[in-house]
Amino acid sequence: MKIDIRQLKPEGNDFHFSESAEEMEIAADGVKFPSPIEVDITTVLTGDEIICQGEVYNTVEIECSRCLDIFDLPINSRLQFVIQMLDSPVGLENGEDDDDYEVIPKTQTVFDISNRVRDAIVLNLPLKPLCGEECRGLCPMCGVNLNERDCECTPDKADERWDALKDIFDEELD
Ligand SMILES: [Zn+2]
Ligand SMILES: [Zn+2]
Repeated sequence: MKIDIRQLKPEGNDFHFSESAEEMEIAADGVKFPSPIEVDITTVLTGDEIICQGEVYNTVEIECSRCLDIFDLPINSRLQFVIQMLDSPVGLENGEDDDDYEVIPKTQTVFDISNRVRDAIVLNLPLKPLCGEECRGLCPMCGVNLNERDCECTPDKADERWDALKDIFDEELD
């Protein structure tokens, strides 16, 4: 996903990219990327800076942390950063760039946004994905997916277990 800096205009340029996660080397544990990563990005050239704003979107296949079902999760994250072009490449080692700035030498003609896009996807994947707010998860006793059917062990036995705990607490208080 490369932006040709030489063709940028002060009044702005719009780009659209579409590339497979495989090509972009985007990977995350337990996550599949069946469709291409789509990016819309607008650049505005002002002096030695290129202001870049856009959106990354994709629908991933991910496992619900409660019921372990695979479901489709739409990802939609913002891209926002400024490319600063400097005369002298002194001090341009990796790590100089912070979250909002990319510093490049003025002689550079192409800027690859792939790393930014990769971060926008991977850093926005939920740590505990949920197929829905209402997901009832798996029965902790028999393992049945409670979204699909009820089982014999709920809710009575669960209640009994709470009662047992309550008894213990009561005894300790006595
Ligand atoms: Zn679920
Ligand atoms: Zn059960």
